[in-house]
Amino acid sequence: MILLLIIRFIPLLLANQDIAPQVDSTQPSTTIPGDIVLGGLFPVHARGEKQPCGQKIYHRGIQRMEAMMFAIERINADPTILSNITIGAHIVDTCSQETYALNQSLQFVRVSALNTMDTSIFECQDHSIPRPKNNYSGPVFGVVGGSYSSVSIQVANLLTLFQIPQISPASTAKALSDKNRFKYFARTVPPDSYQSSVLVDIIKSVNWSYISTVYSEGSYGEYGIEIFHKEATERSVCIATAEKVSSSADDKEFDNIIIKLKKKSNARGVVLFTRAEDARQILLAAKRANATRYFYWVASDGWGKQQKLLEGVEDVAEGSITVELQSTHIPDFDMYMMSLTPEENKKNPWFEQYWEDFFQCTLEKNLPLETDVTLNVCNEDLRLTVEYGYEQESKVQFVVDAVYAFALALDKLNKDVCKDYDQLTVCPSMTQYSGADFYQNYILDLNFTDLVGSPVKFDKSGDGLARYDILNYQRLPNSSGHHYKVVGKWFNFLELNYEDLIFDHNLSGTPMSVCSLPCEVGMIKKQQGDTCCWICDKCEEYEYVYDEVTCKDCGPGNWPYPNKTSCYELEYEYVRWNSYYGLGAAAFSCLGIITTLIVIGLFIKHNDTPLVRASGRELSYMLLFGILVCYLNTFALLAKPSVYVCFTQRVGVGLGFSIIYGALLTKTNRISRIFDSASKSAKRPRFISPKSQVIITLLLISIQLIITVAYMIVDPPGAKLYFPSRKTAVLKCKIQGTSFICSQLYNMLLITTCTIYAVKTRKIPENFNESKFIGFTMYTTCIIWLAFMPIYFGTGHTNETQITTLCVATSMNATVALVCLYSPKVYIILFHPDKNVRKLTMNSATNKKYAAQPSTSYATSSISMKGTPGEAIPMEKVGAATPSRSSCAGVQTDPQESAEPSDAISLL
Ligand code: GLU
Repeated sequence: MILLLIIRFIPLLLANQDIAPQVDSTQPSTTIPGDIVLGGLFPVHARGEKQPCGQKIYHRGIQRMEAMMFAIERINADPTILSNITIGAHIVDTCSQETYALNQSLQFVRVSALNTMDTSIFECQDHSIPRPKNNYSGPVFGVVGGSYSSVSIQVANLLTLFQIPQISPASTAKALSDKNRFKYFARTVPPDSYQSSVLVDIIKSVNWSYISTVYSEGSYGEYGIEIFHKEATERSVCIATAEKVSSSADDKEFDNIIIKLKKKSNARGVVLFTRAEDARQILLAAKRANATRYFYWVASDGWGKQQKLLEGVEDVAEGSITVELQSTHIPDFDMYMMSLTPEENKKNPWFEQYWEDFFQCTLEKNLPLETDVTLNVCNEDLRLTVEYGYEQESKVQFVVDAVYAFALALDKLNKDVCKDYDQLTVCPSMTQYSGADFYQNYILDLNFTDLVGSPVKFDKSGDGLARYDILNYQRLPNSSGHHYKVVGKWFNFLELNYEDLIFDHNLSGTPMSVCSLPCEVGMIKKQQGDTCCWICDKCEEYEYVYDEVTCKDCGPGNWPYPNKTSCYELEYEYVRWNSYYGLGAAAFSCLGIITTLIVIGLFIKHNDTPLVRASGRELSYMLLFGILVCYLNTFALLAKPSVYVCFTQRVGVGLGFSIIYGALLTKTNRISRIFDSASKSAKRPRFISPKSQVIITLLLISIQLIITVAYMIVDPPGAKLYFPSRKTAVLKCKIQGTSFICSQLYNMLLITTCTIYAVKTRKIPENFNESKFIGFTMYTTCIIWLAFMPIYFGTGHTNETQITTLCVATSMNATVALVCLYSPKVYIILFHPDKNVRKLTMNSATNKKYAAQPSTSYATSSISMKGTPGEAIPMEKVGAATPSRSSCAGVQTDPQESAEPSDAISLL
């Protein structure tokens, strides 16, 4: 039935192959007889170009093959494992090629298939239980190999059909973990998903972000690079170009690959996920292209730790980082290898070739007829020792582990199924035991410690433990030789010893392999095609770097830190007391306040003097209070804006002006009315009494207050941040600028009306020419306001200038009022007190009569004043309709004041 399977399935299996399914028994193979035979598949030769097998011996393959024989020897000598059973081997060369390997593997299948049916291999001595005949080499219980994943995959397809378990010591392709496809495949090495992570970890750890990759056609390279690309991309490493080396690649193809790699000039790091011979060809091509020190290679275990591979290309390979499965050196194997000589090692049909290749000599008997003068005859003393350049291949341990795995599993099986036999030998139940069950129950179940103390076990997919060494190919100090130096290891994570890592002897530090350099602080990346290639662009000065590619506005009132990583809140501006502006305005105001207080003091002191009385005391004090309020406003305006400050500002400014101009308007209006009515009739105008005056003024003030309150209801006072520019935040009261001026419209109306009256009454020499001085006050006030407007609105809205202008304008208005209205009076009070006395020049009674009958005498009296000659105002100047006035020494009394009996002033 199995024969039928061979006939039916193998042609199908090989349908895509170019080879016929015949067993090629012409090629040498090794057969070591034993009760149980293990198959062995090793790449003894490199792949050939025209022939399936190349001429070149593959040192790594020979060592692995010898490792299998070494392990078998040890197991057979070990009484604790398969004590009465010897293990034999049937080892074939894969020539590093899957089709050829498959062809060779048919030998295992044939032996296996035939032997399971052939009872003639057993003998029954004395009718006892059947035992295998002595010369029987046994069925192939399992296969150790292959090395290249593509070989293992092909062979596994075949072996699966015959339920022959297979343990590979080197094949790492992830696909082999698929238990649906490769049911009886296990390996003492881990799958490449780990190795791809190791490679990405290395790339990341040397800060490369832009690399090229080269991979071999076939399961190993294609699967490996696929996972590598995926993980690299996920971890922000860009692949500049990915070049595939076809199975039939020639020098031209390798040269083209180098040309393509060179085109991506910034991708100096090149990851090689290739078979060993492809890696060598790439290095040779790089040498041909004069790119010896151009690329920095990072290679998978296909290149691994091989010395021979780099012969002639050491300079190109110098500085490379390679990954190799972590293994432990087996000293006994070195001894074993050292003991081998071509004369004695006849089991290995390829050993002589290896020997000649290794020592670069020729074994005498093989000396060709046409003498090759370049080759010496091999010295008899030659041994495979370190002195001669021998180095244990890194996967030897895994080969030994694979053989031991089979031996230990068979031992257990033997103990389980052959326990009924006298001696534990190979019994029929063992030879007929299902390969599937053997794999599942015995191989996968293994857990042992190998010759060098490393744990060996398989996971449910049949994969081994993932541990890697990171090697750096370095020039030996003071010599032209090179060696691999272990610079790190990987077991779940990478540990790299950066100090030991040398990429280039002429270069200090790690070379770069990036498409674009990182952007400076505060700059973002503007992608240019590939995600790793960009140009750097500046963020706006008010923006911060949100992420690598985005600038974000800090928002009003915020500004980015110099490193642009985030924003801080701008310190808001407001006029400070200690600024020049603040100090100036405050000094001016203080001076005004002191002066005003002095004037108030003087007036209080001289409250009963004719001059003070004649000024209209109530309005005078109100005016002085208004002036004081105006000065005090400076402090409200300079204070740090808050709800209370803004409230005070609004009330204060409105109130100050309305008091001054309300009082002045009342005054001018009264004078105007008196003189108007005097010219028309003798009837005394209404509301000219001091009380009426105060009430009128208060009314005028209250209108401003009502407006202020109403405005406050509509727009409650409060401080607000303004952002005149992106970098400035100004704390201001909400009502400022135009709306502030609007709120002062009423005061403007007062000023305008007052000015009109002042103009009208300018020539009336009433009360020490007060109208004239009111006129001065009003004209100056108008000028101040006219000057104030453009300064206030034309300063580019600099808060400091605006506020200071307002302070100064307010203080100047107050000053103008103070100076124009009060300086003449203060002057008289202080310097001419003689003019500020009541001198009764006429009959007091007469005067009292005037006072008692103000309504009648007011309009008709025509009294010439007596004062200092200079100050006397000629009546003709007053005009015919000039109302009568009380006259004192130089003091023109207010008619209203004189109406009070107590205020009677002595006339000349
Ligand atoms: N890991 C490689 C593969 O799976 C083989 C490397 C070796 O033979 O050392 O193809």
